[in-house]
Amino acid sequence: MKSRMVVVKVDDDPIKNIVRPGPHQRYRNPRVSVETRTLPALHPNEIRVKIMYAGVCGTDVHLVTTNPETGYIKCSAPAQIGIEGRVIGHEGIGKVLEVGSNVYHVRPGACVTFESIIACHYCDECRRGDFNQCRHALLLGLEKDGIFGDIVDVPSMLIHDVSYMAANKTWCLAAACVEPASVAYVACENTRLKAGDVVAIFGAGPIGLFAAMLSKSIFGAARVHMIEPVLFRRKLAARWSDEIYDIDEFFKYGPSAIDVVIEASGNMDNLNRVFWRLKANGRVAVLGRSGEPLLLEAVDHMITNAISITGSRGHLGGAFAKVLTLCRNGRLSLDDAVTAIVDGPEGICDLLNFPEKILEENCKVLVNFDDQ
Ligand SMILES: [Zn+2]
Ligand SMILES: [Zn+2]
Repeated sequence: MKSRMVVVKVDDDPIKNIVRPGPHQRYRNPRVSVETRTLPALHPNEIRVKIMYAGVCGTDVHLVTTNPETGYIKCSAPAQIGIEGRVIGHEGIGKVLEVGSNVYHVRPGACVTFESIIACHYCDECRRGDFNQCRHALLLGLEKDGIFGDIVDVPSMLIHDVSYMAANKTWCLAAACVEPASVAYVACENTRLKAGDVVAIFGAGPIGLFAAMLSKSIFGAARVHMIEPVLFRRKLAARWSDEIYDIDEFFKYGPSAIDVVIEASGNMDNLNRVFWRLKANGRVAVLGRSGEPLLLEAVDHMITNAISITGSRGHLGGAFAKVLTLCRNGRLSLDDAVTAIVDGPEGICDLLNFPEKILEENCKVLVNFDDQ
């Protein structure tokens, strides 16, 4: 069986003298193209899926964008790209065509969406239930071939059966957004966000936008302040924020007493600047990756006020099911973050070759693989 897939190739040229260089210190000259590949025999633990819709993530964009200052790709999330390239993509919904011989919990014909972290279930972290921090985790579409293809094979442990969503197009679009929304959900949980909190969110990309939706309508924030430099994204985010600013406006007119900061922009300088405004027992979740160091001047303020900073990654440990239940019950409309739907593998390729189109004129971009 053949499938057209979106493949990223890079030159592997690590910076010398860095121990364990990240992708942003190792890969350069990214190329993205559509390749027709022959699918191997289906692995006993995998399912074969005809993709319906897939979501383009900031990580996909960073994987194919070069940082002009370093000459390396921007992506600092774990990625492993060999000479054959990597099939990217990790957010989506599709129809099951075939199941491996060890797979019993889903049947052909079912409609499924996917988690994107393959946890080992054997390491100490997994056994403690900290699946998002699995020592041997593999990220779909970064460390294992992903789902940007007409037909792809996916580990069966990643799927959630959403057949109840299949007949409704809006729900299908929403299902393709559950992965990033669940990442935002975990970030809200990690900040111990509670009713009445004042929240500041840096970055109105998809994760920031979902964090705003969740803060406001699910976690009970009293006020959501959103900070975003791109005009298009500011306009879109206005619907789920009480106040929206560019960076200068925020530091001039923004609130002086904040309970929770969610950093989804990757700009560490903002974090240093906002820190003085955190109240006693303030909480900060950092999830925007840029590979940049965090300089923190307000250390005394942090100690005096018992402010905590936490990293946040992933969507395992129940967030996916929670977000799906919220969608199903009409409490979240994730498809509201979708600003464009492009057609097929070629559509993604065209888009990824002009990433500023995604960053400046869009929020969540989906790819329609149906009827190709
Ligand atoms: Zn993603
Ligand atoms: Zn593990």
